[in-house]
Amino acid sequence: MKAKKIQNKPGKIFIISGPSGSGKTTLLSRLIQDKKIGKLLAKSRSVTTRPRRSGEKQGKDYFFVTKDEFRRLVKAKKILEWTRYLGYYYGTPKELVEKQLKRGKHLGFCLDLKGARVLKKIYPHNTVTVFVLPPSLNVLKARIEGRCRETDKKEITQRLRMAKREILSAAQFNYRILNRSLRVALKELRKIFLKESSA
Ligand code: 5GP
Repeated sequence: MKAKKIQNKPGKIFIISGPSGSGKTTLLSRLIQDKKIGKLLAKSRSVTTRPRRSGEKQGKDYFFVTKDEFRRLVKAKKILEWTRYLGYYYGTPKELVEKQLKRGKHLGFCLDLKGARVLKKIYPHNTVTVFVLPPSLNVLKARIEGRCRETDKKEITQRLRMAKREILSAAQFNYRILNRSLRVALKELRKIFLKESSA
């Protein structure tokens, strides 16, 4: 039988946060697509009760579940941390995280402030937090409108209101990145990852 290699040094937790439309998910995906980084970093996938957006895939972007399933997972202690965002539940699967970290693999997360705080509390020595800022509220509004085309106006207003609140928490993160140009922001994120993953 082939023995699994377990490294002594646990992997690091890279949390990318930022308002809806800041580009955090794209930045994390692009970072993982980098040949060198993709070997070291995997994306954590959350469980959510939010409906799937067009283009999103089950098990790739999220594990889409019903409210009852979500409650069952929380009750069974299979969720490390969870949050409620605009009426939907989002949670981090415990087993996935523990397995990857034990293997020494670094894990990238897109979480809200609450999730970032909880994970930092659970893993104080190996958590790095990055906040992605949009260049302006007007740009953010245009991005959210583009994404929520298939949803209603109310959700756009709610996401914008949340965004203003979230931006005020940027100072609580280890790093802040301004996403004016995806290329420049990605370069900065790559630099942060390479520095912190080898520390
Ligand atoms: P969206 O609906 O735009 O995909 O996500 C809404 C918000 O929930 C985003 O800020 C996203 O980062 C956050 N989020 C996604 N999954 C989780 C999770 O498992 N835990 C926490 N705390 N936040 C999450």
